[in-house]
Amino acid sequence: MNMNKIGVIGTGFVGMAAAYSLFQQKLANEIVLVDKNEGRARGEALDLMHGQPLVGRCEVSAGDYSSLKGAGIIVICAGVGQSSPDESRLELLQRNIKVFESIAKELDHHAPEAMLLIASNPVDILTHAMQNLSQRPNNLVIGTGTLLDTSRFRTLLSSHYHVSPQSVHAYILGEHGDSEIPVWSSAHVAGLGIRGNTINGVDYNSQALAEIASQVKTAAYDIIANKGYTNWAIGLVIANIIRTVRNNQRAVLPVTVRLNGEYGIEDVCLSLPTIIGSDGVESTITPTLDDDELAGIQTSASTLKASMAKLV
Ligand code: NAD
Repeated sequence: MNMNKIGVIGTGFVGMAAAYSLFQQKLANEIVLVDKNEGRARGEALDLMHGQPLVGRCEVSAGDYSSLKGAGIIVICAGVGQSSPDESRLELLQRNIKVFESIAKELDHHAPEAMLLIASNPVDILTHAMQNLSQRPNNLVIGTGTLLDTSRFRTLLSSHYHVSPQSVHAYILGEHGDSEIPVWSSAHVAGLGIRGNTINGVDYNSQALAEIASQVKTAAYDIIANKGYTNWAIGLVIANIIRTVRNNQRAVLPVTVRLNGEYGIEDVCLSLPTIIGSDGVESTITPTLDDDELAGIQTSASTLKASMAKLV
């Protein structure tokens, strides 16, 4: 298994933003692009690989599943859109799970040891499905989860407090979607809790903070209403997770993992702060939550379980 060889399945907006970030940040020396639209993957590979003299050597090629042999990490960004305006979300999900069934079979055959990073939506349900479909252990199947939402949250809080986003420590946990939870109880800047305190001259304003959490929740809808899709930040999220795995950084990232009793929840995948290293998921961290946050995580879990129960 070669951590310098990374596969990307689905070379649409998200897959190519991820590949571009990996290329630009020198996080691979081989990137293999796989798409059911072979021409698209071939064109993208040629386009990107021509940047090598400007960035550094990184072989970019288009291939089929057999070309993923030996890859250390494979990102799954394949997505099927609505087949007709009256197709329900559930029908669409069932079709996406069928796609995942065939991808799991191919990957277990050609790259059984690779870590799989799922970005396709609904990411929590598809991560759970891939864990069930693939023979590999669950610690090697992770979803991008709420790392994107957390990044959006820290960005908006940083503008509010006029400090760098990297100096704002705050998580969005739970479902990557409508039931996600902003964890205010542990959010802080330099150890000073965001709740109730004046930070950098900005007084505590619960209404403004609630508005920030609401903007995080609707960010994808807002971006899609304007440009039709989201891709750049999720591409950077994917690169960030891959850097953490490749360099065995053991960073704590809010990503989609299977819960095994945390907060009394099991048999569902959602985002918790998770230590990520070269073996994928090492363990989860369960911060003390206030009653509303705990209830929020439990609602996220039951929302996801209710969606999965409808699948046939
Ligand atoms: P897109 O339509 O631009 O690209 C999807 C690609 O998947 C296409 O190139 C298509 O040919 C390919 N594909 C479909 N079925 C395939 C299969 N069986 N094998 C290989 N390739 C296949 O879509 P996009 O904007 O790139 O979004 C991709 C997915 O990422 C969607 O599910 C989207 O909802 C999701 N997404 C997730 C996040 C997140 O935070 N996790 C953020 C943005 C988008």
